[in-house]
Amino acid sequence: MAKKAITLESFRMFSLIIIGIFLLAINISVSAFAIDRIINTTEDQFMENLSLQAEGYTESVEQIFANCMMLLNAYNQNILTEGTSKNSFNLIFSKKTSSKIPSLYNSVYFSDNKGNAYLHTGEVRPVEDIELYLSELKKQENTFITNPYQSYVYHYPVFSFNKIIYDKSGEKKGMLCATMSLSKLHELLSAIKIGKRQIVVIRNSSNTIIYHPDFFKVNKPSETEVLDVLQSNSDNPESITKGIFKVKNQRNQKILTFFNKIHNSDWYLSLIIQEEEYFRFRHSQHVWFILILILSGLSIVVAIAVEIWVSNYFHKKDMLASIYDPLTNLYTRNQFEKLANRMLRRNKKSKFMLVETDIHGFKFINQNYGVAKADAVLIFYANRLKKIIEAEGGILCRGYADHIYSLIKIKSTHAAMTGFKKASIEFAEDIKNYEIQFFPKSGITFYDPDSTDSKTPVSVQTLIGQASFAKSTIKDNILRTWAVYDRHLLQKSNEEHYMESHMEQALADGEFFVMYQPKVNPETEKVEGAEALVRWDSSKLGLMSPGKFIPLFEKNNFIKELDFYVYEQVFKFLKNCIDKGLPVVPVSLNMSRNHSNATVFIERFMSIFKKYDIPENLIEIEILERSVLTKTDLKEITDTLHKHGFKVAMDDFGSGESSLTMLTNIPVDSLKFDKTFLDNACPANTGVPDKKATNLIAGLIALSKQLEKKILFEGVETEEQFAILRDMNCDLIQGFYFSRPITETEFINYVKNHS
Ligand code: C2E
Ligand code: MG
Ligand code: MG
Repeated sequence: MAKKAITLESFRMFSLIIIGIFLLAINISVSAFAIDRIINTTEDQFMENLSLQAEGYTESVEQIFANCMMLLNAYNQNILTEGTSKNSFNLIFSKKTSSKIPSLYNSVYFSDNKGNAYLHTGEVRPVEDIELYLSELKKQENTFITNPYQSYVYHYPVFSFNKIIYDKSGEKKGMLCATMSLSKLHELLSAIKIGKRQIVVIRNSSNTIIYHPDFFKVNKPSETEVLDVLQSNSDNPESITKGIFKVKNQRNQKILTFFNKIHNSDWYLSLIIQEEEYFRFRHSQHVWFILILILSGLSIVVAIAVEIWVSNYFHKKDMLASIYDPLTNLYTRNQFEKLANRMLRRNKKSKFMLVETDIHGFKFINQNYGVAKADAVLIFYANRLKKIIEAEGGILCRGYADHIYSLIKIKSTHAAMTGFKKASIEFAEDIKNYEIQFFPKSGITFYDPDSTDSKTPVSVQTLIGQASFAKSTIKDNILRTWAVYDRHLLQKSNEEHYMESHMEQALADGEFFVMYQPKVNPETEKVEGAEALVRWDSSKLGLMSPGKFIPLFEKNNFIKELDFYVYEQVFKFLKNCIDKGLPVVPVSLNMSRNHSNATVFIERFMSIFKKYDIPENLIEIEILERSVLTKTDLKEITDTLHKHGFKVAMDDFGSGESSLTMLTNIPVDSLKFDKTFLDNACPANTGVPDKKATNLIAGLIALSKQLEKKILFEGVETEEQFAILRDMNCDLIQGFYFSRPITETEFINYVKNHS
């Protein structure tokens, strides 16, 4: 099964989800840790606050009790000594004491160490519980609060604030007591405000409740069971005066009590909360955690959504820019190539026409009218083309600058060209009415699946290359508005490109070499000379005749270099033959029309020639009638060459605008008549001589002889042509009839055999 390619989109989605999960996981662990820490701290603080609150409450209660004791002190003054006996003085409560006592107390009395109580009312009676009284009298503390007891006087539970009274000798003489009902105590303590979630209870060491917000529980045993000691100020349970206990009450509820012993009493104040209150933070932890989880999940989802939205927005913007050219609204080249290739793939049997259009000298419009106007031209031109192409069901794009590519499915090349020409005329009319005149030019290429063997459909890039090449052949010719791609033209262009980029290297690598074509005396049929003709044996393009590369080298001026190279090869060859004692004949060298300066040419020529010790009369220079040299220069060069002892021939004589006066002006030694003379006089294919043309040749030969010029005819191919020239006393013949251009070795043999 073929693997499904992961798209960029799905990969992006996948990575975002992974990032999301990762962030969520981090968030969860960090939140869980943070919440736990916060709750731990909160719990610690909660405990501490409650401890402090319990302490504060205890202090408040102790303060109240201290105040009560203070009041008792006021009565201390009113204790009088009764009796005069030295040995026994009894303390009694002053009768003068007002019967009014603070409403806090039920009674205030002084009781002596025998248990006689002298009440503030003046009444004297025995204390209610003599045993308890006597045991209390033995206490170390000077002031203390008693445990409650059932008063048979008042018929309800009371307790008392007691103060030990000493006589002058420091002996305990009794106690000053103020009794208070438990209900009064309840009333007093209820006034102290505490929080709603907790209650305060006071109980004694025997677990009897002294104070409880619910008065019904007062003076009853507290039915609680200690489950755990969370904190305490002593390891010995007997001596714990402060601590935090976890307790179970009679309803099986777990509660926490923060307790403190009340000073000067056997009482313990407990601040009580339900254990749930403590765990309320823990319970809320889950809620917080879930909340944070939802919030982080949501925020991650929102963040991812925003990210997707933002990147989609920019992606779309980019996409648009990659699809449509912002200036013309045509497709971009990328998009065009995509669509065009799809069109070609889906219509494998259809014919197509691809056109590349641009504007002649668009950069001048830019320079002369400014960018804004030039842009307006582009928009106008693009819109107009769009209308034409889209009407034909084609697609088009702006490649770059003013280059517009269009692809249309066509029925036939002929119909397409007719349509194209018609549209071009209409377009030209539209441009005439436009404020800026411009001239579009188009390169056209056709694709016909029937004329190609290849099974794979052609790519639009190939078609664009072809159309561009066709357009490039228009060059600056403003009158040409279109050109159709020609395969051979492109091949030629490619070859030229190759030749141009490799010519120098080829020269250095010795890819150029010289062949020799014999010149034969028609009468004796002996070789009397030869012409040196260059060849290029290219490693890539094979063996090439000058016709293939010389026009290009004339364009790029490389022919001048090549000429001197050929001259040197020829000098070397002749020198070699002479040195070896081989027979030699004069060799003529072609001089390119590009040598524009006679002096420069001669100088370089001579410097090469002088390197080889060969007779000057072995060298003839063929100058061209249609050279860039002026007639004066041609004359100068001929004269100079003569001066050095060289021969000069006029090559391709009669092929250009030769005038008869030239024959007298330029003092060449021989004339090489162009092949066209023979072709007209006695065509090689028919062999039937043309009388007039033959007469012209005869006249020219006679005239040349009178001017003392040697006559040579080149391109002699047939027996008939040879016979005509021989009969007309032509001096030399060069042509395939005798020999094609041949290599050095072949030429040496030829000379040997035809001397
Ligand atoms: P050209 O100087 O007129 O050389 C004669 C051309 O005619 C040669 O072509 C030769 O092969 C061809 N030819 C000779 N006999 C016959 C014949 O019987 N029938 C036909 N059809 N052709 C014949 P080639 O070698 O292709 O050279 C073409 C031209 O290239 C030469 O014309 C010459 O103008 C130029 N050329 C060749 N070598 C050089 C060079 O070294 N330097 C320069 N500047 N030009 C050269
Ligand atoms: Mg020649
Ligand atoms: Mg010639």
